[in-house]
Amino acid sequence: MRIMVLGLAALALASSANAQQAQPGFVQAVNPTRAEPQTAPIRPAQQRTIARLQAAALASDHAYQIVESLVTEVGPRLAASEAEARARDWAVAMLRANGFSNVRIEPFTIPFWDATREEAFIVAPGVARPMVAVALGGSPSTPAGGLEAQVVAFPNLAALEGAPNTEVAGRIVFIDEHMIATQDGSGYGVAVRKRGRCAPIAQAKGAAGCLIRSVGTDPHRFAHQGGASRQQDGASLPAMAISPADADVLARLAARCPTRVRLFIEAELRDNAPSGNVIAEIRGRERPDEIVLLAAHLDSWDSGQGAIDDGAGVAIISAAARLIRELPRRPRRTIRILLAGSEENGVHGGAAYGAAHAGENHIVALESDFGAGRVWRFDTRFGEQAMPYARAFQRALAPLGINPGNNEADGGADVGALRAAGVPVVDLSQDGLDYFNYHHTPDDTLNAIDRAALRQNVAAWATFVYLAADSDWVFSASR
Ligand SMILES: [Zn+2]
Repeated sequence: MRIMVLGLAALALASSANAQQAQPGFVQAVNPTRAEPQTAPIRPAQQRTIARLQAAALASDHAYQIVESLVTEVGPRLAASEAEARARDWAVAMLRANGFSNVRIEPFTIPFWDATREEAFIVAPGVARPMVAVALGGSPSTPAGGLEAQVVAFPNLAALEGAPNTEVAGRIVFIDEHMIATQDGSGYGVAVRKRGRCAPIAQAKGAAGCLIRSVGTDPHRFAHQGGASRQQDGASLPAMAISPADADVLARLAARCPTRVRLFIEAELRDNAPSGNVIAEIRGRERPDEIVLLAAHLDSWDSGQGAIDDGAGVAIISAAARLIRELPRRPRRTIRILLAGSEENGVHGGAAYGAAHAGENHIVALESDFGAGRVWRFDTRFGEQAMPYARAFQRALAPLGINPGNNEADGGADVGALRAAGVPVVDLSQDGLDYFNYHHTPDDTLNAIDRAALRQNVAAWATFVYLAADSDWVFSASR
């Protein structure tokens, strides 16, 4: 509100250099015909606190210690598994040890899925040769003797969609779509469609099964795990991802001669399996009902350790909130940590949180779930009147080498339900150029985390969260 009033006064203030000096923190127009955008003021005491938080974050390996503890003491933690339950207990203990309030588990149940056998072979031409393969999450089992059929290859999902049923019926579809590495991870949105949609589209055309080139950007000989669509009646097609090197061979063979593969999947499916979210808070000193929500997810795929996906996010948000908790005075608003369960197989934790907390006043929400690379850009999804606040955040983040972004932030999967309900979101966007070399693979280990980059993430999160929580700024379009 205050910004709106000052906005009307901007031209008058701009005509006087003295007036500009009297408004520290404001970037005012010098030439009324080329007005510079306004930036909300940050109080000097807050500036000092931000500088202190950033210095403390950049000097501390606390986040690294948190993710090291998670991957060492719990390890991989498939959604709704025993290991995920242990991860919840680990999280409760970690959050309590860091002094947060209202630490609790909010349980829910989901359909559990795990593959106990996942093998794939090229069986013709020539002698049988194994491919490195993983079953896609939600895939049904193959018959006990395996599923064998001729391969029909497509360069991408659109080509499968356009193919006549006669070309596909009775065969195992192979989608050979490559993924492009980008800093912002935008290649994933395109590439991941084949993982979710291959089986249902192929099934409608009468196919016997589905293979995809792994959704990843590495040349290594391992396959990337990930969820696919599972139909309620469990009658989906068996679906697997194969390593890039095996996809290369299969593509070359299928282009030369009729090529047959045999797939073995044994999947365990269980309904109403226990999962849950873990919540912790720093209660606001003046406006406890106004919530700044920090999210990451606790579950992981199980071929690696779940270090960058998403142990890093758990560590970044917990360490950043801990720095704020150590300040002499709590911020005005409540800071709430959401460590979501069962993100990987359908964002169940985010949906459960959104349903359970729909009536609460979320001021802004954000998630850390893109690995451990440095934050390089700050994006918002604010109402237009709140753009001066976006610029204030940008200025506070600039010393960390973070660039201003756009007003089309996604927020992250686990805050998607809140975003859909109109809650403003931001992205502290991480450099993801190599993220999909590791994502959902055996190489998602602690070794993929750079300590200095992790420290910079904590500094960025502490900066944003402190400033959002210690203000009365409103970011939504509707108010
Ligand atoms: Zn993730």
